[in-house]
Amino acid sequence: MTKVDLRSDTVTHPSPEMREAIANAKIGDDVFHDDPSINKLEEIAAAKVGKEASVFVASGTMGNLISVLSHCGRGDEIILGDKAHIFRSEAGGAAALGGVSYHTVRNDARGMLDPSEVEEAIRDSTNDHNPHTAVIAIENTQNNCGGRVLTPQDTKSIADVAHNHELPLHVDGARIFNAAVKLETPVDEMLKEADTVSFCLSKGLSCPVGSIVAGTYEFVEEARRWRKMVGGGMRQAGFLAAAGIVALDQMVDRLAEDHANAKKLAEGLSKIEGVTIDPDSVDTNLVFFEVKHSNKNELMKKLESEGIKGASPYSRWRFVTHYGVDSEDIDYVLEVMTNAMTS
Ligand SMILES: *Cc1c(COP(=O)(O)O)cnc(C)c1O
Repeated sequence: MTKVDLRSDTVTHPSPEMREAIANAKIGDDVFHDDPSINKLEEIAAAKVGKEASVFVASGTMGNLISVLSHCGRGDEIILGDKAHIFRSEAGGAAALGGVSYHTVRNDARGMLDPSEVEEAIRDSTNDHNPHTAVIAIENTQNNCGGRVLTPQDTKSIADVAHNHELPLHVDGARIFNAAVKLETPVDEMLKEADTVSFCLSKGLSCPVGSIVAGTYEFVEEARRWRKMVGGGMRQAGFLAAAGIVALDQMVDRLAEDHANAKKLAEGLSKIEGVTIDPDSVDTNLVFFEVKHSNKNELMKKLESEGIKGASPYSRWRFVTHYGVDSEDIDYVLEVMTNAMTS
């Protein structure tokens, strides 16, 4: 029996209000623009992130893929962080399907790129030896750097470099609402300087499926064509969009609870012998830490037998808090971890 699943915020189940909205959703064929729930979600989502238009897609990976393909032609280059999800965790899709190459620059410990390194990475397109730089991307929150938050000023400093070179800035905002809630800043303010954004409804916002891509009308039209090409035209997907509408209305503010639980978890873990973590580095709902134990497989089994998922055979672990994990669950996890680490 799983009691506490800390593997990811993608394991969330829809709220009762979402299930009700799904059951009663008005639907149509979205490829014909005929699904009223999708149309409504796309309108609400675009307004929320402060962009002209948006398109509903199957996943964050599909959202980033069609964004990059819309910005880049074959042989073009995307500049992004070396810890970026687009670079590390999306199966090389932009390269495989779009002939796009990845030009990485260093992510610092909080997930930020150095604007001057980004500027240096931009190719001189008058030189025939060079690929064309076509887009710059940042990630907020930065997953692999610990769910750290970039501020609107951080985003502006990269956007300025991009725009000075007439390049668009894409934000992989899979968890942008976590960043907005953490900084108590409206999400459109967070994305003011970004040209395009993708974000997940299926993570902390607890929808069963789906992501959004947003930008100008022209960009979204192109993204919609790419979505069709990669098989993402989903017909009566209004059942999914109905949950998305509820998510944007009801599930954003509560992310603060996930952040409080993550902080409590980090503080508790920091007191356990053999665990290394700096609780101050936990900005949002992702808790990364180092575990020193002579038999990690044994440790994993022990946690699993107590109903806790999220342990790993490696020394770097990630626990993720989300809807469905409460403060008492954190007490339980800390108790089991303490016992497991000391026995
Ligand atoms: C999860 C994630 C994605 C991809 O989303 P999926 O819906 O899992 O495909 C993209 N970027 C970041 C930063 C993520 O954390």
